[in-house]
Amino acid sequence: MLAVMLFEPALSRSDDPQDEDHLLLFVGNALIVSSGADVRLPTRAELASLAPAETVHVGALAGQSVETASIDAETPLPGGWTSETLRPLHGSLSETEWAVAGRAYQLAEWDRSHRFCGVCGTPTARLADERARACPQCAHRAYPRHSPAVIMRITRGDEVLLGRSNHFPPDMYSTLAGFVDVGESAEAAVRREVREEAGIEITEPQWFGSQSWAFPHSLMLGFTAEWASGDVIADLTELEDVQWFTRERLPVLPPPASIARRLLDAWL
Ligand SMILES: [Zn+2]
Repeated sequence: MLAVMLFEPALSRSDDPQDEDHLLLFVGNALIVSSGADVRLPTRAELASLAPAETVHVGALAGQSVETASIDAETPLPGGWTSETLRPLHGSLSETEWAVAGRAYQLAEWDRSHRFCGVCGTPTARLADERARACPQCAHRAYPRHSPAVIMRITRGDEVLLGRSNHFPPDMYSTLAGFVDVGESAEAAVRREVREEAGIEITEPQWFGSQSWAFPHSLMLGFTAEWASGDVIADLTELEDVQWFTRERLPVLPPPASIARRLLDAWL
């Protein structure tokens, strides 16, 4: 069993880069980790040949600084290291390491995609006292991108409403979910998504909990609600199927790392 590790987020560090820093480098959306069965996060010394001049400070994991950056896909990896997307790494890394990797990915991706001002095109620079990149020409600031999304467990008596998207693994169904529109409350988004995807009306959504989900930059807001009226009519433009399931006849459920699974486990 992996020991519980403490992570403390931080904007910057007071010391110089150290060989034993955790260096989380991303090639596209894949993280460089050790290859082989015992997956672990690299240190700066181990990936010295790949370390970019500038990295983003993420915080400290068990007392060691965590730095991150995106690197070119063409960069050859040293022996013993491989790149892997974050989802399949859940279970190979500790929960804390996996969450830190998700945070690092979002920061590295924000830093990579905001090197130029979105208003006037001038190269931007990182601010020392805020998680932002600023334009020296027009003062425009770009912050890490965050997209709120709602995810909801809808029940009717002893049944739960689950939908299947065509990019899911075979036989997997999950709770309905969708992004919150600009100007919309989370509760209104829950009602709208359920109406759009399943054609039914529900009771007042109740808060469940939230999860940062780095695929690619969502803040998942979990709710529960009861069916109120209407027959399920799946919106086949967004989903392959939507239907009610009993506990006795469940499909393949989403993986344990997800808030979708937590919503369902709390009902099971
Ligand atoms: Zn500008």
